[in-house]
Parts: sequence; structure tokens; C-alpha cells
Amino acid sequence: MRESMRSVYRWSAWFCLSLMLWTAAVESVHHHPSQTDAASCSICVAAHSTTPTVSSTHVRPVFTTVGVLPEEAVLAKARLDVFELGSRGPPSA
Ligand SMILES: [Zn+2]
Repeated sequence: MRESMRSVYRWSAWFCLSLMLWTAAVESVHHHPSQTDAASCSICVAAHSTTPTVSSTHVRPVFTTVGVLPEEAVLAKARLDVFELGSRGPPSA
């Protein structure tokens, strides 16, 4: 049962892949008997259309100094009281 399902999936995948390749090949080599038919064909219109031009103009970035941050020394205020850490009361009871 499982092997037959795998076979069905495999053959359907190959069928879809071959159908896709066949369609791509046919679309690339098809031709029309008259120019009016080619004008109405969406594949031919897309294939022979010109590349779109960029309509927007890119603005060049301007790099200027907005301001200067003043440097200030940062000193951590650490204090260690040796007396408080060294003295410990006797254990009660
Ligand atoms: Zn066409």
C-alpha cells in the first residue's frame, strides 16, 4: 500500500514536471500565421515588450556634519568599605 502511494506520487511529480517543461518549450517556439494574432497573444506581447524604464530620479545622499557630541569622561563611583565587609557578628545560638 505504501509503496504504491509512493509510486503514484513519483509518477504524478514526473508528469507535472514533464508537462511544465513541455509547455515552456511550446511557448518559446510557437508562432502565429498573422501579425494581428501575435498582437493579441499575451505571450508574444510579453516577450516583445520593451524593458520598463525607471521613471524616478535618484537623489544623491548628502553627508554633512549635523553636530559634534562633546566628550565627557565617565567615572564610576565605586566605594568599598572594608570595615563593613570584614566585620561579622558572632552566630547567635
Ligand atoms: Zn504568441
